[in-house]
Amino acid sequence: MKKVLVLEDEASIRSFVVINLKRSGYDPIEASTGTEALERMKENPDIKVALLDIMLPDIDGFEVCRQIRATNPKIGIIMLTARTQEMDKVTGLMTGADDYVTKPFSPAELTARIDALYRRVGGDDETPATEIVNGPFKLNTRNRTLEKNGERIRLTQVEYSIMKMFMDNPGRALSREDILNTVWGRDYFGELKVVDVNIRRLRIKIEDDPTNPIYITTVWGYGYKWGF
Ligand code: CA
Repeated sequence: MKKVLVLEDEASIRSFVVINLKRSGYDPIEASTGTEALERMKENPDIKVALLDIMLPDIDGFEVCRQIRATNPKIGIIMLTARTQEMDKVTGLMTGADDYVTKPFSPAELTARIDALYRRVGGDDETPATEIVNGPFKLNTRNRTLEKNGERIRLTQVEYSIMKMFMDNPGRALSREDILNTVWGRDYFGELKVVDVNIRRLRIKIEDDPTNPIYITTVWGYGYKWGF
């Protein structure tokens, strides 16, 4: 799981961030004080990205940033700054932060920043994976094949591309537009319905009970989600 430290003392902002990170396939590790954040970091050396609020009840976010950076040169650090704190950006970057997000931020904006940083710090994978394993499924990206419980499932190229997109984004709701753009390409002038048709066929191939899908679930009015 892709762990992200979330240091924020305001419970409402923290839970908003946590919910959105989970939705995007991250594993958020929460802290409400600077001291707690440093403890969580020690307990979870595999945290690759940290989100640090600045105004905290004990030590401030800059100090937390400095201390994390002192022992971990590789981790990606994003400061959460208030709109009025223009200087925060400068100071934050000087104390070793990689990026900053100004409050209030949208979930999409925050996730995009984390995704970008995660890729940059090599959090995704040190070596390009040729196999993606999710539950009973194993996708081989070199041979473009899918197995369920060790049995080969025959897929079309489009079905394979959809499966790859799902398995790259476990637990994340993908819009039908996103699937269409990624699998068919942005210059494809088809209808969104083609996504649904392919999903229906995929379900017949991979679900235990296609009428009651548990792997590819529908996100009503939006799209689909891969996850159990
Ligand atoms: Ca605060």
